Amino acid sequence: MEIIFATHNQNKLLEVQALMPSHIKLISLKDLGFEEDIPETSGTIAGNAIQKVEFLKDRFKQPIFADDTGLLVEALNGEPGVYSARYAGEQKNSDDNMDLLLKKLTDNNHRAARFVTAIALNLGHCQVLFEGICEGTILRERKGTKGFGYDPIFQPNGFEKSFAEMSLTEKGTISHRAKALLKLIDYLKEVN
Ligand code: IMP
Repeated sequence: MEIIFATHNQNKLLEVQALMPSHIKLISLKDLGFEEDIPETSGTIAGNAIQKVEFLKDRFKQPIFADDTGLLVEALNGEPGVYSARYAGEQKNSDDNMDLLLKKLTDNNHRAARFVTAIALNLGHCQVLFEGICEGTILRERKGTKGFGYDPIFQPNGFEKSFAEMSLTEKGTISHRAKALLKLIDYLKEVN
């Protein structure tokens, strides 16, 4: 089957492509020549995933899914959460976002955090939501150069390295996005 992944983020696309079984052909927005911004103005992570998929579902009339992710830091009452992309401003710059987060946590030893991903899948006749969570801690400084977003300062529990020090395959076995995506893949097995 063919399915559209509604993202403009090439890093996410690579991660998701690496996890998709060969019988599911992933179509990107780039493949479709769609370059418009997709609104994500809901106040929640799940709400944003639903908003993205609803914005696009009638344009392409084929199976489509969209994701939204937030990093929730306990000591900051869940910040940056739904504002993860634009934490340090509308320029949506990952380095600025990490600098701000590290600054807010200076001298704080309580550094527990979690990534939460929501994926909304629309199959025309039904719409389903999947969630994946990855627990970890915020490092005191950047480690590693792989990945994207907050990867250099997020260390998943049970590992001695950041997401940015992991290969695509390694991150893909434990990440929030991978967990949500595996639920989607299982669901598609059931309905097909
Ligand atoms: P989005 O709205 O789902 O694209 O993501 C919100 C913000 O979280 C963006 O700044 C991303 O860079 C960041 N983000 C999303 N997924 C990840 C991830 O897997 N690792 C690190 N940062 C991420």
